[in-house]
Parts: sequence; C-alpha cells; structure tokens
Amino acid sequence: MDFCTRISWTRVLAEFLERADSLVVILADAEGRIVECNLALMRFLHKDARPLGRLLGEIFRSTDGTIPDFCAFGPDNPPLPQILRLRGSDDVFKVTCSVQDSEMLVLAERIGCSNNVVMQTMSSLTNELVGIGRELSRKNRELRETKSRIEAISRTDSLTGLANRGFFMERLQESISLADRHKQELCLLMADLDHFKRVNDTHGHDAGDRVLQAFSAILSRSCRKEDLAARGGGEEFLVLLPMTNEEDALRMAVRICASMRLLDVLEQGAPVTVSIGVACHHHGGSPDQVLGRVDQALQRAKEQGRDRVTL
Ligand code: GH3
Ligand code: MG
Ligand code: MG
Repeated sequence: MDFCTRISWTRVLAEFLERADSLVVILADAEGRIVECNLALMRFLHKDARPLGRLLGEIFRSTDGTIPDFCAFGPDNPPLPQILRLRGSDDVFKVTCSVQDSEMLVLAERIGCSNNVVMQTMSSLTNELVGIGRELSRKNRELRETKSRIEAISRTDSLTGLANRGFFMERLQESISLADRHKQELCLLMADLDHFKRVNDTHGHDAGDRVLQAFSAILSRSCRKEDLAARGGGEEFLVLLPMTNEEDALRMAVRICASMRLLDVLEQGAPVTVSIGVACHHHGGSPDQVLGRVDQALQRAKEQGRDRVTL
C-alpha cells in the first residue's frame, strides 16, 4: 500500500489530534484566549461544549493552585514545559507552549494524577525550574540592554551627543577599507570654531558649551544617514563623508560655515564663526594621511582669515 500518495496527511493529523486520548491541543490568541481546541479538553473538563473564548489561565492551575502566566511566553522566555493541573480535576499535564506570530499553540499531555506524591514533587520541581529559567532570561535581557547602553556611552561625547574621536577613528578605518574595495570616493571635513577662547573669556564657559552644542546640532542636521559627525576634542569636529566627492564635500562645508555665521547663540553677541578644512581620501592611502591633509587644509583656512572653507 502506498500511504504517501494515497493519504492526505494533513487531514489524518487533524483527525488524530482531534480524537487524541491523553493529549490536549489548544490554539489561543496573544492574550491567551482559546480559539480552537480538540475533544480531549472537553472531556477532561467534563463539558459538552468546547470552552472557546475562555482564558488559558481560567482552565489551568499550577499544582500549588497559582495561575500560570501563559502570556509571558515570547522570544525572551523560552517555552519550558510546565507541570499543570486542569482546574476542578486531578489530572496533571505536561504543558508546552509555542508562540508564532500572534498565536499560541498549547500541547498538554496527561502524565498522571495530582494526588500522587511523586507527581506533586515532580511538578513543584519543574515549576521551580520554569521560574529559574524565566529569571535567567530576564537577567540576560537586562545584561544585553546594559551592554548596549555602555557601548553607546563609550562611543558618544557627553556634551554634544556626537560620536567621540575613538569611535570616529574606528569608522574612518572601516570606511577607508570599504571605499578602496568598492572604488568609491570618501571625504573628510575638519572644523574648528574661530577664536573660541575669546567666546569663553567674554561670555563664560557655559555659553561656550552652548555654542559647542549648537554647532553640533548644525553638523547633525547636515549629515546623511551614512555620514558620521564627531567631536574630535575641544572645539574641533570631524565629519566622515563616505561615497562623497570633493565638490559635494565642499558644498556641504560651505553650507555648515554659513549656518554657523547666521546662528545667534550668544543672543546679540558677535556671531561665532567656524573654519573648515576639506580633504578626500586617495585610494590606497592611510587614515593618517587623509587626516594629515584635512588638518593642513584647516590650518590654511585659519591663516587665510578664518570663517571659510579650504581644500
Ligand atoms: P582659533 O580661531 O585659532 O581656533 O582660536 P581659538 O581661540 O578657537 O583656539 P584655542 O586653541 O586658542 O582655544 C580653544 C578654546 O576652546 C580653549 C578652551 O578653553 C576651549 N574649550 C575646549 N573645550 C571646551 C569645552 O568643552 N567647553 C568650553 N566652553 N570651551 C572649551
Ligand atoms: Mg578654535
Ligand atoms: Mg582648536
């Protein structure tokens, strides 16, 4: 007999699950409300109708009487089997849940009777294990969150919220490798606020900090998603522009320079200006070489009178 071609296996499986003796099959929604179940559940509950619409928590009980939390299952809570009792009966089940999209499949296999001492011990041990498993998952989640917070802090400049120099150097190295491999252009901007010492001396250090923050906001607004603006240290900033040619980098620098000139951070004080150097990476060159060139360009902008962009 050729079973494989003569039988519709899906139908056979559905029929088998519907008529199973000691296996309860339940499909529930994300809130744990029963959407579908097999005959076994009706039989174990001594009911004439399927308990559709009822909550899993109303039907199952832990062997110590507490309500199990079915909705706690998810990617961070591994579906460990639990030993549970059906409410109002002595039947004890090994219950596993699996969650897919917004549906929950619950399989409950009858393993004995709750008035049996071995069963009670096994059940409380298993439930303890489930509790430990959940606690472990929670701790792991907290650890992952803390780790990513620490990573974010370690690459951020606290005053301006921009990337710090260390993170910029990492990204510069990676971006240069990518640019070389894919024969793409890459440019750098180096910006330094003009006569910033004077700003501090005249308006105070706090006002100086506000200028640094306002300039950082201009840089962030000017950047595309793939660009990276960083505080290089003090009142010096760096911008990494992958896939950008000299002409576009210059245009961006001129726009930043003009925005800064128009900004009135010091309220009626003289405008704070910025000098910007622009340099492009030459294929095969090192990060230090392009940094050296962008630094020279910035020095020239300073020498030529500040508040300008130099290539
Ligand atoms: P130049 O146009 O040649 O760049 O002149 P400058 O005065 O900007 O340059 P200089 O290097 O002489 O002074 C930089 C000043 O930046 C001195 C320092 O106190 C100030 N500075 C550095 N970091 C901070 C900061 O975090 N907050 C404030 N308010 N000032 C800072
Ligand atoms: Mg300066
Ligand atoms: Mg400086």
